[in-house]
Amino acid sequence: MASEQENWARFREVIEDAGDGLILFGTGAGISKASGIPTFRGDEDALWEINPQILGTYAYFEETPKGHWEWFLMRLRAYYNCQPNPAHYAMAALESWQRKRGGKMGVITQNVDLLHDRAGTRELIHIHGDMGHVRCSRYGCKLGAPYGKIPYEDVDFSAFEKEPSDDNVPRCPSCGSLLRIHALLFDEYYSSHVDYRMQDALNWIREAKVMIFVGTSFSVGITSSMVEGALKNKIPIFSLNPANEEDALFEAGWTNLSVKAEEALPRLCEELGIEIPSVASAL
Ligand SMILES: [Zn+2]
Repeated sequence: MASEQENWARFREVIEDAGDGLILFGTGAGISKASGIPTFRGDEDALWEINPQILGTYAYFEETPKGHWEWFLMRLRAYYNCQPNPAHYAMAALESWQRKRGGKMGVITQNVDLLHDRAGTRELIHIHGDMGHVRCSRYGCKLGAPYGKIPYEDVDFSAFEKEPSDDNVPRCPSCGSLLRIHALLFDEYYSSHVDYRMQDALNWIREAKVMIFVGTSFSVGITSSMVEGALKNKIPIFSLNPANEEDALFEAGWTNLSVKAEEALPRLCEELGIEIPSVASAL
């Protein structure tokens, strides 16, 4: 087995060698942990001692719109108080560098927290939606799936926040149906909204020259598609995750780097001579 040092050297080399190809990142909750965002699926640090796999479903929204919104507004408030961390900024800097040398970098994020956007990443797919929008719960409404959405700021939650109840859940300005979050719920499909951009994600997976996972637990559908594509195309796969001990996953040419993204990605930039403009102001 290669040492951590050898793995790191190989990681840097593969990024350098990607040249004008596509470097594809897949990011999960772990990258936002250093920003203080609680992970969606719960861990020992999770703020919520409730089961997201029940509360984060469309079935739960239908059963209690009040419960759906109480839970998500709590999360939204947490998100708005968090800032991108050095891992997010390093990825944005890496993308600029990669573009300058004629290549491309893409990020498929499972996170709905918008921290990649705020750090400046441009080629970004929010495969699970984002918390900056809400949408009508009626499929086919112009403000609902599969095409519509409403900026979160445009919705008045004051009545609901004053007195949370099913009756006070904000309604669609177009058709009067209840509003819901603009994110993929556990009992929904990637194809349910164009914003999840599943086809674009599949195109990137086909095109990628190297695939790097950051802070993902490999428990969601998109990571399976990414891994399958990478194995099929025999491209190098790296996973940056201090918590990942599932060695069985790393048999077929995978490299697991047991590092913290907020330390490792700035280090990668430093070693490649890439300046990270925003980190100083972020710290
Ligand atoms: Zn509507």
